[in-house]
Amino acid sequence: MDKKDIKSMNMEELKSFVSELGEKPFRAKQIYEWMHIKHVASFDEMTNLSAKFREVLKENADLVVLNPVEILSSQIDGTKKYLFELSDGNIIESVLMRYKFGNSVCISSQVGCRMGCRFCASTIDGVVRGLTASEMLEQIYRISKDTGERVSHVVVMGSGEPLDNFENFTRFLELISNGDGLNLGQRNITVSTCGIVPKIKELADMKPQINLALSLHASNQSKREELMPIAKKYELSEVLDACRYYFEQTGRRITFEYSLVAGVNDTEEDARELASLIAGMNCHINLIPVNPIRERDFKSPDNSAVVAFKNKLEKKSINVTIRREMGRDIQGACGQLRRRYLREANS
Ligand code: SAH
Repeated sequence: MDKKDIKSMNMEELKSFVSELGEKPFRAKQIYEWMHIKHVASFDEMTNLSAKFREVLKENADLVVLNPVEILSSQIDGTKKYLFELSDGNIIESVLMRYKFGNSVCISSQVGCRMGCRFCASTIDGVVRGLTASEMLEQIYRISKDTGERVSHVVVMGSGEPLDNFENFTRFLELISNGDGLNLGQRNITVSTCGIVPKIKELADMKPQINLALSLHASNQSKREELMPIAKKYELSEVLDACRYYFEQTGRRITFEYSLVAGVNDTEEDARELASLIAGMNCHINLIPVNPIRERDFKSPDNSAVVAFKNKLEKKSINVTIRREMGRDIQGACGQLRRRYLREANS
């Protein structure tokens, strides 16, 4: 029999699993606490279970634990990047960012990605597989354990397209905001998507309280298609309608992410077109000067062009911020650290 990934189970499922193994349902609560609150790394640390039951668990259950293979710490702002090895040998990356309002962890949702955005390092070799809920949770748990600090915010903005791994992602959401576990408020969780329209609607229908960030990156259909292959599948107008629907269903303000690429989408005309595109929407724009990756020839605009773009939007009364670059000294755009690691490991 396949060992069960018990860290991806909710309490009800864990209770039935424990019963099948011949134990009382209250054991489920104990195990749940060891996994989701105390974040132990082995069954042997679950000391209020009998030695015999721990052996039964080892035979029937898999305790997913991520192993950091590299940790980089920024000397500038306390940002930490983690490379984790999964039990099948795959490598993923996660980032801890320390803000005044608390600690935020950026997690990956897939090994690689198949969305093909032109400026993104995570997608270059395509997708290997989606992460399980337990592997998403573990990125947060290991970082919290490593630093001894509480994690108050989570952004699903690392490698991968979370809505392309929908079932595992929504299970992750259920578990992380569950009162028996980390109990993270959904308003402190943000999911970023390149715009898979049916999945945005499906998520909206679940009426979560999480924030939706939409990777827009262009102010019209043809420019968006140049940067993001997914734009050919879902038209810009459909994507914006899905965002409006998400807002109607959840009341959560949409964030649009706009990576500024010099000579591609950074002119004042682009800003003007962007302002009229989203006019009247309850939203916020996050400008991200593109982080150049070694595999592509995209450049970031200089600072004055970034500020001019922002000013143009503000004149049109649009909420806009320039994303502060964190951990510049340990950077590597989204997915770059993993690529460097794999390159070095293979040479
Ligand atoms: N697949 C999801 C989430 C992962 S990427 C999505 O597409 O939204 C998180 C954000 O970083 C996205 O807005 C993505 O377009 C952006 N991004 C990826 N590589 C980047 C780079 N090199 N420079 C700037 N932004 C980048």
